[in-house]
Amino acid sequence: MKYLDEYRNQALIQRLAEQIKKRATRCWHVMEICGGQTHTLIRSGIDQLLDGIVQPVHGPGCPVCVTPLEKIDRAINVALTPRVTLATYGDMMRVPGSNSDLLHARSRGADVRIVYSPLDALMLAEKHADREIVFFAVGFETTAPANAMSVWLASQKDIPNFSLLVSHVLVPPAIEALLQDEESHIDGFIAPGHVCTVMGFEEYEELARRFSRPFVVAGFEPADLLEALLLLVAMLEENRFTVENQYTRCATRMGNLHARKMIREVFEVTDMKWRGLGTIHRSGFRLKDEYQSFDAEVRFPLDHISTPEPPHCCAGQVLQGKTKPSQCPAFGKECTPERPLGAPMVSSEGACAAYYSFRRFQENCL
Ligand code: SF4
Repeated sequence: MKYLDEYRNQALIQRLAEQIKKRATRCWHVMEICGGQTHTLIRSGIDQLLDGIVQPVHGPGCPVCVTPLEKIDRAINVALTPRVTLATYGDMMRVPGSNSDLLHARSRGADVRIVYSPLDALMLAEKHADREIVFFAVGFETTAPANAMSVWLASQKDIPNFSLLVSHVLVPPAIEALLQDEESHIDGFIAPGHVCTVMGFEEYEELARRFSRPFVVAGFEPADLLEALLLLVAMLEENRFTVENQYTRCATRMGNLHARKMIREVFEVTDMKWRGLGTIHRSGFRLKDEYQSFDAEVRFPLDHISTPEPPHCCAGQVLQGKTKPSQCPAFGKECTPERPLGAPMVSSEGACAAYYSFRRFQENCL
């Protein structure tokens, strides 16, 4: 049965690829804004299958990769503070800061723990009332509801030793910034299905209208992405600039209203610094004034830590889709998963990690 499913899947992939080839009259540049989708495209060889028909452009869709260096330095600083436990997702452990990473901080005695949810960190705070528990809240809109819930619960249960180090970024303002860049050569976008499951895709309709670009909300399997590409190519060939939803099994136009309500209760939109992209207007979340006591950056003196991005890593160019990972001079040489120079090489959703894992060592220039 397993082999029959695999055969059907392969047959579907071939059929969709053939349909895309028939429909396209030129090579279209399509950006995906999700590291998971980047990995699927490269792992399944869709980029090679559609060579010359669709040129995938990898966007700033890896939450770990877009977290600015100074936030990593601040997390390390917090972790090294006496009587503090820093809880984080495993992905963050090896992301290089300016001199070190959280794994090294742990080897120097810092109490850094890997958790699967901010609610695990909240439980740590309840259990260890004598310690400050800080959760490193990194991510797009997808992880915001659980982070908001943890703060709301901490407030309801009066747990004073819990806080968040917030680095939450939002997808639509980043797309807007990319489209305002005159060097942008993106014809259409694959919108991230998980983000739209939470937030809906109303905001993308506005972007499609303003910038005359089509969007397709898509899932994460090879067949999802090929279906999305077929829809995009059809819209591009017809000069239709709207939003279509391929991920109907999860995403709706308005998203998850309960989750959005929880986000609104705890967070407000603010300007946010992105790695490689600089500060983007109204592109992130911060804790509202009434929840400021749960903000680690208020609780700990961290303002003095301000770190410029390293000159030897061109993650900014990679994250904007201007450079392919394999075009970075350090790719596979000074920078490898064992000795990463930047987050995109070490994060499980990073474009550089995908190119390294699936042997894309030589790519044509964009
Ligand atoms: S290959 Fe390494 S140095 Fe180059 S952009 Fe990627 S993470 Fe940075």
